[in-house]
Amino acid sequence: MSERIYQRCIQPDCAGTLAVDDTRFLCPRCGGLVDVAYEWSRLPVPPSLRFFEQRWAERQDPLSCSGVWRFRELLPFAEPRWIMTIGEGQTILQQADGLCGYVNMNRGRLYLQYEGLNPSGSFKDNGMTAAFTHARMVGARRAACASTGNTSASLAVFCSATGLMRAIIFIGSGKIAYGKLAQALDHGALTIQIAGDFDDAMQRVQQVSQQLGIYLVNSINPFRLEGQKSIMYRVLEGLRWEVPDWVIVPGGNLGNVSAFGKAFFELQQLGLISRLPRLAVINAAGANTLYQLYEEQGIRWRAGAWPRQQVQEFFQQLQAQHRRASTIASAIEINQPVNLPKALRALEWCDGVVREVTDQEILDAKAQVGVHGLGCEPASAASVAGLKRLRQEGVISKDERVVCVLTGHQLKDPTATVAYHSTDPQMFEEVLGKRGVRRPTFANRSVQVPNDLGEIIKAIELYA
Ligand SMILES: *Cc1c(COP(=O)(O)O)cnc(C)c1O
Ligand SMILES: [Zn+2]
Repeated sequence: MSERIYQRCIQPDCAGTLAVDDTRFLCPRCGGLVDVAYEWSRLPVPPSLRFFEQRWAERQDPLSCSGVWRFRELLPFAEPRWIMTIGEGQTILQQADGLCGYVNMNRGRLYLQYEGLNPSGSFKDNGMTAAFTHARMVGARRAACASTGNTSASLAVFCSATGLMRAIIFIGSGKIAYGKLAQALDHGALTIQIAGDFDDAMQRVQQVSQQLGIYLVNSINPFRLEGQKSIMYRVLEGLRWEVPDWVIVPGGNLGNVSAFGKAFFELQQLGLISRLPRLAVINAAGANTLYQLYEEQGIRWRAGAWPRQQVQEFFQQLQAQHRRASTIASAIEINQPVNLPKALRALEWCDGVVREVTDQEILDAKAQVGVHGLGCEPASAASVAGLKRLRQEGVISKDERVVCVLTGHQLKDPTATVAYHSTDPQMFEEVLGKRGVRRPTFANRSVQVPNDLGEIIKAIELYA
């Protein structure tokens, strides 16, 4: 392949490639996942990461303002004229001393990468700007995804903000948080609710896209992952280009962890960093495929020789037992992660670990994140809950430098938050109790008072 930029099968033993403008996104030889691949030696690569600091002075240029495209030399698949940005990635790394007590870390060592500040309220915008740009390059008029909510919200925002494409989104019935559904509807996406869960919707959207020639923006799309690499560039930037010891991320479809692994691997190849951080992926206990495979069954990437048979048997077993993913963290309520092989590869590159956390741990961690100043949705808090566990186990030490990614905004899922803090036992039971959440450890209950000045004053003096 003489092109500088193309798509390449992730299996080292398979030479399958696709041209950069091919939208099949699967290896033509083996049907597996593909990467966006670059002949770096024939592309202009900056001599050091400090190069990107000059972009701060060019913020009037939308491409230099975007938290994704100001790193465009590290995802150079599109000519600048195709790039579609809506101001995504204006997110920063925040030192989180307030949370150090909860997770038992030394102060100054914990950072949160808060991706809830994106235009659609989740990290998905980092990937969507890249996929959307690619869709534009290939002349797509319609774009589709299956979604637990945030991918569809992001697609809907990009389509409505640019007027360039029609958004078609597939969601499972009754499985989408209201904040996210509200976005899809408000931004005019064609919303198709199928009787099934996310994993069903994912299969259908692939079939439909293929049959109707609709551009697919799920994270099977390798261009999306190119955009998501930038989350790690911003983490490095926040640490003055030093590599943290750990990056902790919730795992759903496993696009993010795959993108992070590729980001660090490439930076090392390019000589722009000298070591890789370790990665920790956190599953919800009710959707713990990666945990089961990686930690319980010991499945590893093994330079591409991963045991496909064993993985297939695991999925067959899930199906046979009609096991459905179930967690309050709806963004990671996924049993058949499409990026599993890429995630295994990232875990190998970055000496990774995988943990599972219960809905109780997730919601308690979320309440702690909130009380210390950042609002996140349940799935995001899995990273903090996972850190707490890894600290208890001693896998991570008090003094290591740790970055937890907060993937989405608090207002995405108000139901979970209100139920956690609710004084109404029925609401608690309906939303959380049935998921095994026993005690809202950090509930901030509203105070019920009669409409009486004296009583109101008494209540305030009592509680504040
Ligand atoms: C999509 C999403 C996740 C899961 O990310 P994957 O890349 O699918 O593993 C986690 N949290 C939030 C808020 C999300 O929207
Ligand atoms: Zn292949």
